[in-house]
Amino acid sequence: MPATSTPLPQFVDIAIVGAGPQALTLVTHLLQKKAALRSQFVVLDPAGTWMQQWHHQFAALEIPHLRSPAVHHPDPNPHALRSFAEPRPDELFPPYALPSTGLFHDFCQDVIQRWQLISRVIPAQVQRIEPRLRSPGFQLQLADGRQLVAKRVVLAIAGGSPHRPAWAQHPALSYPPDRLCHSSQVDLRQLCLRGERILIVGSGLTSGHLALGAIARGAEVIMMARREFYAKLFDADAGWLGPKYLKGFQAEPCWDSRWQMIQSARNGGSLTPAVMMQLRRQERQGNLRFYNHCEVRQAEWQGTAWQVQCRQATDHDCLSSLDIHRIWLATGQTLNVQQWPLLAPVRAAYPIPWVKGLPVLDQHLRWPGCNLFVMGGAAALQLGPVARNLFGGRLACDRIVPALTKPALRQALRA
Ligand SMILES: Cc1cc2nc3c(=O)[nH]c(=O)nc-3n(C[C@H](O)[C@H](O)[C@H](O)COP(=O)(O)OP(=O)(O)OC[C@H]3O[C@@H](n4cnc5c(N)ncnc54)[C@H](O)[C@@H]3O)c2cc1C
Repeated sequence: MPATSTPLPQFVDIAIVGAGPQALTLVTHLLQKKAALRSQFVVLDPAGTWMQQWHHQFAALEIPHLRSPAVHHPDPNPHALRSFAEPRPDELFPPYALPSTGLFHDFCQDVIQRWQLISRVIPAQVQRIEPRLRSPGFQLQLADGRQLVAKRVVLAIAGGSPHRPAWAQHPALSYPPDRLCHSSQVDLRQLCLRGERILIVGSGLTSGHLALGAIARGAEVIMMARREFYAKLFDADAGWLGPKYLKGFQAEPCWDSRWQMIQSARNGGSLTPAVMMQLRRQERQGNLRFYNHCEVRQAEWQGTAWQVQCRQATDHDCLSSLDIHRIWLATGQTLNVQQWPLLAPVRAAYPIPWVKGLPVLDQHLRWPGCNLFVMGGAAALQLGPVARNLFGGRLACDRIVPALTKPALRQALRA
């Protein structure tokens, strides 16, 4: 926690909750549009610094470079990362100049410095957001008991919870905690895996990073997915980064159909062609096996290893005869905004339509009826399948910044 961070004011115009890349994108776009807002907002995050979750996830999975191209970043100038990378051309990877993890880290530090945001994050976890009864705005209850009143709130907390398959939640399942982990709990840097056999469940890029990291530490890996492992460059087709698909998406009046469009665009998890190539090499060297179209039916910890029964064992041997020393669930996150505890008072005061746990926001990503704005995957019904990505942050700014800066677009409402 930086000793020099902004002290918590009692009243503020705009409270931004979360200090990840989405929030950083919002702040730079906001200041570019209206520099006078500098003294009018606070950023709240328990980390007390920018981008902590982002940097942790890249370090823990030893991810060498981003999946998204160099034009996607938190600065309003789309060429800023390219210019920053001029002395470091080797750190932009083909085919679309994907920035190395280190380059992106340094660039974000540069953004934070250039926009004078170093000490702007207040270490605080927001526990409840309560619309005020007699005057506009919200009361924010912090986990340490402090409070803050904000006229307007922007939520940029990502907010997914680790998805665990039913068998992994069975109440009778008992095991040492480090032997069955969600990918968000794995930190490769702390592990020595020589002689171990690890089952990784899930077909997304995270499973690929975990597999390569485990093999590099001496483990033998089995990668299992209900579908066929497949490769594509980005997690959603590049057409979703512009009008090609977004136009049709935004013209779709039915929110349920939009939700379906998001699901089919993301199409579950995928590997990148580069990671797939490395995994195939490891498969040829006998360090890795793919179990396609397969899922765990039951797993039992037997003192030193798991015994795993799977549902289908069509194109591979049954797992039950193998000792599995660890199971890692690269099964993604579930996003259900309807269950976010911090929003319970807002949900009660301003009931809105929902689609599969996602709120139906207005075109400025505002909670209908009050001055609460939402960024990230939670705004996907408005922004489409890339809402949670860096580019989604930019799309969100196009909607939120005008509503925060133009008096004509301000909501003249109770909260
Ligand atoms: C391994 C991995 C790699 C990825 N790579 C890419 C990529 O290359 N390109 C791309 O475009 N996308 C990528 N993504 C997707 C996405 O861009 C990232 O997940 C990104 O971190 C999302 O940004 P965010 O600001 O929404 O969330 P986060 O980075 O998770 O930040 C949210 C912040 O909110 C804070 N917070 C949460 N609750 C509260 C609360 N109650 N009060 C106060 N603060 C709170 C958290 O502490 C956190 O700091 C990747 C995702 C993962 C998991």
